[in-house]
Amino acid sequence: MSASIHAQALLDFIDCSPSAWHAVKSIEAQLADFHFQRLDETQIWALKTSGRYYVVRGDSSIIAFVHGKESAATSGFKLIGAHTDSPSLRIKPNPQSTAANLARLHVDIYGGAILATFSDRELSLAGRVNYLTHSGNLAQCLVNFERPLLRLPNLAIHLNRGVNEEGLKFQKQHELALIFADMSNQLTPSAFTDFTELLQAELPNDAEQILSWDLNVYDTQKGHFWGANNEFFANGQIDNLASCHSVLTALLDEKNLQNTQSTLVCAFFDHEEVGSDSHCGAASHFLSDTLKRISDATAQNSQDFSRALAKSFMISADMAHAYHPNFPSVYDTQHAVHINQGVVIKINVNQRYATDSVSQAMFIDWCDKANVPYQLYSHRNDLPCGSTIGSIVSQLGLRTVDVGNPMWAMHSCRESAGVFDHKAMIDVMNYFFSTNSDAKL
Ligand SMILES: [Zn+2]
Repeated sequence: MSASIHAQALLDFIDCSPSAWHAVKSIEAQLADFHFQRLDETQIWALKTSGRYYVVRGDSSIIAFVHGKESAATSGFKLIGAHTDSPSLRIKPNPQSTAANLARLHVDIYGGAILATFSDRELSLAGRVNYLTHSGNLAQCLVNFERPLLRLPNLAIHLNRGVNEEGLKFQKQHELALIFADMSNQLTPSAFTDFTELLQAELPNDAEQILSWDLNVYDTQKGHFWGANNEFFANGQIDNLASCHSVLTALLDEKNLQNTQSTLVCAFFDHEEVGSDSHCGAASHFLSDTLKRISDATAQNSQDFSRALAKSFMISADMAHAYHPNFPSVYDTQHAVHINQGVVIKINVNQRYATDSVSQAMFIDWCDKANVPYQLYSHRNDLPCGSTIGSIVSQLGLRTVDVGNPMWAMHSCRESAGVFDHKAMIDVMNYFFSTNSDAKL
């Protein structure tokens, strides 16, 4: 499949996934197309050889796996992990206030969003709502307004003369409220002026009372290719739905689904952008609980789970900072990575990334054999380095490599990346899943 077809599939995936809860639904829908069966954590699992399964925790983390022909203790797990969440704004529990006849919604800041990028854009809301039905039962649904609903207008430059010298700044408590309705009496009596009434109208008919929500603010502009040759693409949430899409595409290759000796595991975690400490994040027991159950399905011995972990390999996939020619001073010039020049292996001796020289060598070997170009990233010594799920999940005892594709404007409301890199990442993940050789050094 061509690079642009893969990239278009990614843009469609992101457009269908305006929140982490929607991302999990999008992943579930693709798994369903390939006859994956949903497992329930509260039930006993009876796993079959070559069976395709997935399990969801917290509605926003999901682990899919193909049960290998060999026991986990014999061949280990082949794992790839990514995260479903992206930095954004979230609607507060008591969100609404009125000023100068304008209804505004107050927001929390989720993760390290570049706040100014949310200004002057057609924003909408998506997420999950918990409610009471007419018959008194608790229920939940996903909502997605889709249409432009909210806005954070900038000040005119005439009222903010220093903006181009001092940068575009929003005071986090007072200046981020999103305008959502005109409360003046020009509107018809039936007009929505109350946010919960507006939300109620999005719920099923049996909804009696809204009890709580998780609502993510997102940009309604769809994904687009750009550049003289359409070699770039832009969208929200490229960090890290691009990695989720690569993982999923590699897993759902028919040869991987049918021929795998090892058990293939794809883990998609929420809450990476806020540290992963939650009941379903990468620091939770979600992955280890799931791996233990898979191991137990074929275990002959109480040591088999430990043997399986020791035999396993994890690719932690998250995006990387591409070189931006307008800002050369923020990169280690020996380790700048470039859009459309291949997948990035992230290395940090202080273990902000989980790559070690062995996992690096193994991944390079897979890239070479899959004919995929790669680049090495190391952060500047005088700037703090970010982290990802790799160093957390590797604490299970999993040898791990941290990789990702180069992108611009990470954590902007509108990010950019390269068409060719997306295919390259799919290809090397596909190779990792499909090779049956024991690659351990
Ligand atoms: Zn990320």
